[in-house]
Amino acid sequence: LLSHFLQAKMSRPVQARRLEGIDKNIWVEFVKLAATYSKVNLGQGFPDFPPPEFLTEAFSRALSGGNHTLHQYTRAFGHPPLVKVLAQFFEKLLGRDLDPMTNVMVTVGAYQALFCCFQALVDEGDEVIIIEPFFDCYEPMVKMAGGTPVFVPLRPNPPKDGKLMSSADWQLDPAELASKFSERTKAIVLNSPNNPLGKVFSREELGLIAELCVKHDVLCISDEVYEWLVYDGKRHIRIASLEGMWDRTVIIGSAGKTFSATGWKVGWVVGPDRLLKHLRTVHQNSVYHCATIAQEAVAQGFQRELTLYGKPESYFVQLPKELQQKRDWLVQSLDGVGMKPIIPEGTYFLVADISQFKSDVPDVPNSDEPYDYRFAKWMVKNKGLAAIPLSAFYSEAHKDNYTNFIRFCFAKEEATLKAASDILQRWKQEKTS
Ligand code: PMP
Repeated sequence: LLSHFLQAKMSRPVQARRLEGIDKNIWVEFVKLAATYSKVNLGQGFPDFPPPEFLTEAFSRALSGGNHTLHQYTRAFGHPPLVKVLAQFFEKLLGRDLDPMTNVMVTVGAYQALFCCFQALVDEGDEVIIIEPFFDCYEPMVKMAGGTPVFVPLRPNPPKDGKLMSSADWQLDPAELASKFSERTKAIVLNSPNNPLGKVFSREELGLIAELCVKHDVLCISDEVYEWLVYDGKRHIRIASLEGMWDRTVIIGSAGKTFSATGWKVGWVVGPDRLLKHLRTVHQNSVYHCATIAQEAVAQGFQRELTLYGKPESYFVQLPKELQQKRDWLVQSLDGVGMKPIIPEGTYFLVADISQFKSDVPDVPNSDEPYDYRFAKWMVKNKGLAAIPLSAFYSEAHKDNYTNFIRFCFAKEEATLKAASDILQRWKQEKTS
């Protein structure tokens, strides 16, 4: 009788409705595969080199420098030294006065910044435009907020004269983009430089998005975590600096990407108080604040970068230089074996075409798993090289059109990239012998 009673008690559904259909997650599966099989992991996006010394030293000082208040709670919306220096820094970048207390908020990584945006700004029934391919968490976060994601793809234009493709060859169709805006549209998510393609949106492309946002009174959630990782002399343009956009844009950044310290989980938002005050409500009632010591160290990092702004010693100048070289190595290695890379203009990711490798990967009868998933799993198990299937960055409805690519991360030590290149070379030799 007791067991019957207990069973009856357990028959009630435990899962909240808002989680329906969002329980699958690419990272759980592929991080595990990489941990089990990979000799060289170019999958998940994190550097395998250390953060700059000035940053780790700042952390050590904060930890054991005698200021014991740094072990306690700090201001909920951001440790005062960090919001102050972020305000100063972004005043320079945006050319406008900022109030550190109302125009800046510190979050637990860019992830929580995104979560705050969707929870604070998106209502049941609102539509949110997402440009594909996209950092995968945008879709479940919109759904958890009760919103409906509306997808619009970047469309590849094959380059002429047999050249390698560039991320710049992936473009929005202006008419298609315009057709996605309606009175139901609450926001658009922009991610420039874009993960996974590495596309850096041009002024014209941003202008098109801005015009539509203004015309339809739509907000812009601008994920700019790769703002400093831009190559070949290109410049990152902030959509908030375009006419009519400051009042409707939230800029999102991350010390993880900016200072090569993804595990610290320090992120931020910059924007008008009329938007940020609602983000503060979400933040205050969920997370409260991000670790004080990490915030203090990041504040000191930014203080250094503020004094060295634009100078050769600046980390924000040095890091993209180093990464551009790493990008070029990986481009060469991949091109050499026929895995055609799409040259990224920014970020530390690179997408490569695997359509020439179909005969390597055994067909699985009756499987509806896309080719890029099968390929990435086969590659890590058989070659020890980990990468991420590109279709993971597309909505269910559009996935099938983009199954011939995988994404590599090149924010890696020279030795790691060399080891990847060796694996590719050996693979090529096996194929031709
Ligand atoms: N946005 C994008 C585009 C990203 O690639 C990432 C990290 N992969 C994040 C946000 C999350 O950043 P953080 O680690 O600071 O939470």
